[in-house]
Amino acid sequence: MNALQDTFDLVVVGHGAAGLAAALAAAEAATQARIVVLEQASPEQCGGGTRWSPANLRMQSVHALAPDFLRDMHLANGTRHDADYFECLAKEAPATLQWVEAHGVQFHAPGYYMSAGPPRIQPQGGGASIVSGLMQAAHAAGVTFWYDCRAEQLRCDASGAIIGIDITQHAKRRSLHTPRVVLASGGFQGNPHMLREHLGAGAETLRPISPGSAMNDGAGIRMAQAIGARTSGNWAGMHSEPVDARSTASAPVVLVYPYGIVVDQAGQRFIDEGAGLVHETWEYFSRDIHFKTAARQAWAILDARALDIPGLARAVRSDVAPIQAETLDALAQRTGIDRAGLQVTVRAYNAACLGDTKHFDATRVDGLASTSQLQPPKSNWACPIERAPFIAYPLVGAIAYTFGGLATDTQARVLRAGMDATPIAGLFAAGEITGHFYDSAPNAVAVLRALVFGRIAGRTAMSTMIQTVSHERLHA
Ligand SMILES: Cc1cc2nc3c(=O)[nH]c(=O)nc-3n(C[C@H](O)[C@H](O)[C@H](O)COP(=O)(O)OP(=O)(O)OC[C@H]3O[C@@H](n4cnc5c(N)ncnc54)[C@H](O)[C@@H]3O)c2cc1C
Repeated sequence: MNALQDTFDLVVVGHGAAGLAAALAAAEAATQARIVVLEQASPEQCGGGTRWSPANLRMQSVHALAPDFLRDMHLANGTRHDADYFECLAKEAPATLQWVEAHGVQFHAPGYYMSAGPPRIQPQGGGASIVSGLMQAAHAAGVTFWYDCRAEQLRCDASGAIIGIDITQHAKRRSLHTPRVVLASGGFQGNPHMLREHLGAGAETLRPISPGSAMNDGAGIRMAQAIGARTSGNWAGMHSEPVDARSTASAPVVLVYPYGIVVDQAGQRFIDEGAGLVHETWEYFSRDIHFKTAARQAWAILDARALDIPGLARAVRSDVAPIQAETLDALAQRTGIDRAGLQVTVRAYNAACLGDTKHFDATRVDGLASTSQLQPPKSNWACPIERAPFIAYPLVGAIAYTFGGLATDTQARVLRAGMDATPIAGLFAAGEITGHFYDSAPNAVAVLRALVFGRIAGRTAMSTMIQTVSHERLHA
């Protein structure tokens, strides 16, 4: 490699929604710029979490946000809510999705959730179509892609401005010269040591929800911290979902638990299965399965009444059929759940289901609550489990992404740790790598924010190049 081949106007780390949006926006803003996307995975495996994600987006259409968007962002983040960040997201989301659409990605309303919630749209073909659509557009706009290439370390000058990045490619370490880097390399869900350090003992055995989740090992976060970047987001926070313990497929989520009960191996209930709509409970529910059950596994138990719910199959993404039996005893035998424990639990639960089952409505919070004697209570969808066949799904909590990351401003500039929180010259970040999520993951926002702030990062990065070129011309 000669010096020119190792010199770029912009280096983007990561080939997911954030990195590709950054690279494409940068190439459109500065058509002659030398831009490279570094991706540690092969061309066949690239795309990070984005590629495996259904990519639900909290929008009514590409032209309008879901109602109450900003209120819901505040509710999800609590007292540490970063209002500027989410206001910028809200303002830029429609224009960004129209831009993505103009690059060949079509959107439609998803058939994923069976219960109510905010309106969402989804790219046809899921996140994989964002990856292929934006990659092709960026390639056509002149962006270079290096696969099997891992970013290792940022380099700065004496003032702290970015001057380069060290990489490992084909097992060889080398340095690239660049005054601008966009970090879009995801969270640290693929790093067992960081998971244990920040989420607690046992977190290192959390199952990655998809192959893409396992790739993000926090390298970008650590690189930026090493040169003094400020952090953001809840470092003990993660988005996880309950998946079928038997399936080896990507994201075999099972979201039917509100319509039955959930027990541990001893047959004991341990959560209010009906505390809210599934996207309001799945995160802490799957966390409890992992951290609060002895076997780190639970069972969703349903009966024939639940099987009659229209569209129930939409709430199950597992490729493995449930375990089924004509009696609860036989179900206990097939699942290994303690037989007596399950009998006692179901008897107590059924005795507490005194509401009129005609009011049962799987699509909304129906108010069909158990009596207060039941502990833990069941706040909605409380119908007795009494009609054969009885079915069971084994559930484990699987991690999709972490919340802890880098602090960025509304121009996607990475901020410095310390009192002044000024931007690190030449360093930008977008997507999962940036914190900003606190109490719970705002539903259907992770891909949206990756696209919006990826685009902003690419544009802001190149605006500094355009300013520099104009300045040099003026003084030539
Ligand atoms: C199964 C699943 C379902 C989901 N469902 C939804 C949903 O419906 N709606 C929603 O909004 N969000 C959803 N999410 C979350 C969302 O998909 C991600 O948060 C988002 O796509 C992240 O985009 P990103 O560009 O920041 O990171 P990613 O898409 O993860 O891309 C990061 C890339 O960086 C690469 N990389 C990492 N380290 C390095 C390094 N050192 N050098 C070079 N390359 C590196 C990785 O290999 C990866 O390709 C889901 C996630 C999963 C896994």
